[in-house]
Amino acid sequence: MQSPGKLYVIGTGPGGIEYMSLRAVEAIKDSEYILGHRTYIQRVEELLDGKKVIHSSMGKEVERVRKAIELAESSRVSLLSGGDPGFYGMLPLVAEIIASYNIEIDWEAIPGISAVNAVNTLLGSPISGDCAIISLSDLLIPWEEIEEKLRFALKGDFPIAIYNPSSRTRKPNLEKAIDVIEELRGDCWIGVVRNAMRPGQSVRVYRLKEFKGFLDEIDMNTTIIVGNSRTNFKNGILYTPRGYGRRYNI
Ligand code: SAH
Repeated sequence: MQSPGKLYVIGTGPGGIEYMSLRAVEAIKDSEYILGHRTYIQRVEELLDGKKVIHSSMGKEVERVRKAIELAESSRVSLLSGGDPGFYGMLPLVAEIIASYNIEIDWEAIPGISAVNAVNTLLGSPISGDCAIISLSDLLIPWEEIEEKLRFALKGDFPIAIYNPSSRTRKPNLEKAIDVIEELRGDCWIGVVRNAMRPGQSVRVYRLKEFKGFLDEIDMNTTIIVGNSRTNFKNGILYTPRGYGRRYNI
């Protein structure tokens, strides 16, 4: 018999279970309760036979985490989070609540493949090393702070992965971000991936000026990669050299 209570915070990766870690699959199998947003629950459907599934919606994250912690005092519980739970996922909230209230439960977080990893490999290798990841969602963080971070990332010549690029209520944020990118980086390469590792996947590469004509097509299932001054696009591959060419004859 398993010890009674445990909370798993699980990164479900970008798509179906083939992109989840074995540990994540094991943890779901070990759980009696599965909590998560409907989208993530659907993606692991084949693992859920006989489990008690608690769906919850966006904006209900605090309630979801509290419920998961309460259940995990006596049961084995998986809290699902898309991609990696640590990037704009459930892990920061779980960590903050458990730490702030000195909650003593057995818990384990399991990393997942984040959108930046999935999208980078589909495009070629535009990230390549040091990079910045910035979400355009101003739900929890004011726009001024987001823009400031974007400006520093551009000044630092980091390739940038943009999460949460747009939504029905937040279209202007993407337009504002593109203006800042044009101001500081000029007509750079832009990689756009929608539904990475999921049905309906699309992978596109533009110059920034051309991309400006497609902003209306960008939605919340999309991640945008902003290339840096060394990013190149050849033979269908978007890549940022790591520097091997400086040291070796490649
Ligand atoms: N924790 C998640 C990110 C959650 S924020 C992770 O680590 O990937 C949600 C944003 O992630 C989306 O708006 C989108 O920008 C990005 N995203 C998540 N999955 C994606 C996918 N399969 N394809 C493209 N972008 C994705």
